[in-house]
Amino acid sequence: MKPANHPPTERLLAYATGAVDVPMRLLVETHLSFCARCAREVGRLGEPGGTLLEAVPEEPVPEDLFGRIWAEAGRHEQPRRVEGLPLPPGLLAELPPPERWHWHPVPGGGCRMARLVKDVSGGSGLYLIQMNPGARFPRHAHLGVEEGLVVAGGAWDRGRFLEEGDWGSAPAGSRHEVIADAKEGCWTLVREERDAVRLSGWWGVLQRTASLLRH
Ligand SMILES: [Zn+2]
Repeated sequence: MKPANHPPTERLLAYATGAVDVPMRLLVETHLSFCARCAREVGRLGEPGGTLLEAVPEEPVPEDLFGRIWAEAGRHEQPRRVEGLPLPPGLLAELPPPERWHWHPVPGGGCRMARLVKDVSGGSGLYLIQMNPGARFPRHAHLGVEEGLVVAGGAWDRGRFLEEGDWGSAPAGSRHEVIADAKEGCWTLVREERDAVRLSGWWGVLQRTASLLRH
């Protein structure tokens, strides 16, 4: 199934020019593993003569760009389940081993989350969230931008049903809740622009887990 929701062009351009942190790079590359359309777009944006790239000549093009793009473009298979995790092998290869992830239950039941990567310089984090079938991730707000994509199953988020590969974002300060597909549940990869410990408005929800995430 082809994703219906894609990263904005500026995200793809930032990726193509290497102007992203590790959590964003991994998030974009995971989307590319689902989406030939965006993989082609990254290739086009990354071309030395690309029209958009000409508009930002101050951004150097990484030497390994083409190798990475074509490696991504050739990787369109659905992610294989590795130790029960529906993540692309290319992503798993860049993460700490799954047995070292610290899973934390989300109060309310039916959801758990683990921080996979923390960007030390920028303060962002990459999280994996697993929701059981029909589970509700309680309404919450965050200080920074939240971007993510569904890697397995599906979920309702602000009136839209997101499926495998679909990209979603929530602007800083917005509030939302997420409800997992009633049959398949949902696995979501999320980049929080500002670390979860600085989220606000998780009253009675993530306040307890916030301290657990600080490690
Ligand atoms: Zn796409």
